[in-house]
Amino acid sequence: MKKEGRRRLRRVVLVPAPFQGHINPMLQLGRILYSNGFSITVVHAQYNSPNPSTHPDFSFIPLPDTSSDHISTGDLVAFVLELNAKCKAGFRECLAAEAMRQQGSDDGIACIIYDDYMYFTQETAKDMNLPSIILRTISVSSFLARNALFQLKAEGHIPFPESKTHDPAPELYPLRFKDLPLSIFTNLENFLQVVSIVSDNKTSLAIIHNTIDCLENSSLAKIRQQYQVPIFPIGPMHRIASASSSSLLEEDISCLAWLDKQSCNSVIYVSLGSIAFMDVKDLVEMAWGLANSQQPFLWVVRPGSIRGAEWIEVLPQGFKESIGERGYIVKWAPQQEVLAHGAVGGFLSHCGWNSTLESICEGVPMICIPCFGDQRVNARYVSHIWRVGLELEGKLERGEIERVVRRLIVDEEGNEMRKRGKILKERVELCTRDGGSSNNSLNKLIELIMSF
Ligand code: UDP
Repeated sequence: MKKEGRRRLRRVVLVPAPFQGHINPMLQLGRILYSNGFSITVVHAQYNSPNPSTHPDFSFIPLPDTSSDHISTGDLVAFVLELNAKCKAGFRECLAAEAMRQQGSDDGIACIIYDDYMYFTQETAKDMNLPSIILRTISVSSFLARNALFQLKAEGHIPFPESKTHDPAPELYPLRFKDLPLSIFTNLENFLQVVSIVSDNKTSLAIIHNTIDCLENSSLAKIRQQYQVPIFPIGPMHRIASASSSSLLEEDISCLAWLDKQSCNSVIYVSLGSIAFMDVKDLVEMAWGLANSQQPFLWVVRPGSIRGAEWIEVLPQGFKESIGERGYIVKWAPQQEVLAHGAVGGFLSHCGWNSTLESICEGVPMICIPCFGDQRVNARYVSHIWRVGLELEGKLERGEIERVVRRLIVDEEGNEMRKRGKILKERVELCTRDGGSSNNSLNKLIELIMSF
C-alpha cells in the first residue's frame, strides 16, 4: 500500500534520540510511514539535529534548550538523563503548538513514535491523551541481554572477574561474560538505572524493532513473553524505506570512484561508526595492519574519534607512501552505497546494529571489533549464530589485523562466509517482500496507527 503523492493520512510525530545510529532508523521509519500515506513531524534535540533539507516532505520542530550549550555531552549515560529532563517541558509546548496548527485539518496527530532513549515522551503523550509507540534501535537479542543484567547482578555474576571473561553467561547462549552489553561510560549502578527506565513500558501501545524475524526468531519469541503489547519487527528499515541520507556528517562520495577502480570482493571497508573512540596507538596498529595485509582498504576515520588527535595527522611517517593508491581514508562515507559496491569483500566494523544490518543486507562478511554495549552482543551473533564474520579478540595489534583481514578477504574461510552471507541476504530480502514477516508486521503496524 504506497500512497506517496496522494492525499495524506493523519500525522505521526517522531521523537528520535540525537545519535546517528538512532536518527537513521527513526527517519527511515518516517519514510516508510510517509510512503504509506501518513504526514510526518520530527520533534528533535538541537544537539546532533537532523538536517531538514534531506527530508523536505517532513516537518521538523527543534526542542528548546537542547543544544550542547545546554547539556553536557561527555558521559553518555549522564547525557541521556539530562536530555530527558531538559526535553520534557519543551516537548509539551511543541506538541500543543503542532496540535493547534493542525486544528480543523484532516491530519491531526494520530500517535507519537519515540526512541526508547527519549522516555520523557511517554508521560507527555499520556497526559495529552495521545497514543504512543516505542521504537527500539538495538537488536532484540541485545535488548534481552541488557534486561538480563539485573538478574545477573542480583545473583552476584556481575561485575565479573577477569578469569570469567570467556565463560558462558548463564542462560544467555551464545554470549560469554565478555559479550554482555555493559557500558564503558559509567559504573554499573548508573548504567542499570538508565536501562531500567529505558526498558520499562508503562503506557505505550506497541513496540517497533528494527530487526528481522529470520535473524532473531527465538529472541522475538522471548520478548513477546516479556511485554504485553504487540511487537513489530519491521527491519531492515533502510531497505524498506525509500533511499535518503540522514548523515550528520558530510558523506565523502569520492570513495565510490576509488572503489570503482578496485577488483571484485578485494576491498576491506573499515568503520567504527559514530560514537566509538580509539587511542593514537590503536590507530597506528590499525594503519600498519591494513597496510601489511596487502589488500586495498577504505577506512573511515571520523574527525575527533582519535583521542588526542584532530584526524589522521598522527599517522606514522612513511605510512601514506607505503600504501600509495591501495588505501583510501575518508572522514565519513556513504556507508550503504559502499557496502553495496561489488569491490567490497569485507567490513571491519564495531558492530553497531545499523552497520550490522547494512552489512548483512549486502551479504558482506564482517571482522568484528566491538567497543562497548550492544556491539558485543551483535559481534557474537555475527560470528557464532549467523556465522558471517570473525571476531578479533584481544588487543588491536598490527599482526592480528593483518592476519584477520587476509583470512576474510583472501582465504577460503572468507569465501565460505561470503557464500553464507549471500544466503542470509536472500532470506532477509524475502522477509521484506509481500507476505514476508517484516512486510506483514508493517501492515499490522499501519492498521494499528489507522485505528487510533
Ligand atoms: N555511517 C555512515 N557513514 C560512515 C559511518 C557510518 O553513513 O562513514 C552510518 C552507518 O551506515 C549506520 C550509522 O552511521 O547507519 C551508524 O550506526 P551504528 O548503529 O552502526 O553505529 P553507532 O554509530 O550507533 O555506534
